[in-house]
Amino acid sequence: MNEKDRAKTIIKILNKIYPTTPIPLKHKNIFTLLVSVLLSAQCTDVNVNNVTKFIYPKHNKPEHFVKLGRKKIEKLIKKIGIFRIKAKSIYLMSKQLVEKHNGKVPKTFEELEKLPGVGHKTASVVMSQGFGYPAFAIDTHIHRLAQRWGLSNGKDVVQTEKDLKKIFPKKMWSKLHLQIIFYGREYCKARECYGLTCKICSSCYPSRKKPIITKKA
Ligand code: SF4
Repeated sequence: MNEKDRAKTIIKILNKIYPTTPIPLKHKNIFTLLVSVLLSAQCTDVNVNNVTKFIYPKHNKPEHFVKLGRKKIEKLIKKIGIFRIKAKSIYLMSKQLVEKHNGKVPKTFEELEKLPGVGHKTASVVMSQGFGYPAFAIDTHIHRLAQRWGLSNGKDVVQTEKDLKKIFPKKMWSKLHLQIIFYGREYCKARECYGLTCKICSSCYPSRKKPIITKKA
């Protein structure tokens, strides 16, 4: 099966398993989505949601976080990994939003990526899930699956993003981002590859005999 056919098969299977793709990070508005994405680095979405459900009813605008200050933000998010660094980013990002963007989350990659703590992946998630712009946010999980499925052999997420954007139609990028994450969590975990039994690999690689070993992003 060539790359194009594999991509078609993958879309078909993912659409069947995940016909809808609810956003896993709970949020109240685009700003709180941005905060949650930032908090989710090296942390599960469930953990982030468990913490933010006590924060967002009261604190859901950049002004609120500026008023809180770094120390109080630290206290609120201390159950999340690397909370001191994240509290600093949230505080500085909120301050910048108030001072330079009138308290609004900007709608371009360029402006988003200039915010403290916001990298290309975070910006991509906000652009696609917050603003509905077709973006393909690639994290280490999507990178792993793209390699295992033979869609990219890039050494890093930058190359994987380029490869996946070439293979899949633009209008599917945002949905596929979530579908691939869901599939990775459910079936194609970092330390486990069953090699022969998963729906996607048994359809795309029917004669594969051994599990796949992938390079880290
Ligand atoms: S067999 Fe399953 S776990 Fe292994 S690469 Fe394929 S989808 Fe992932």
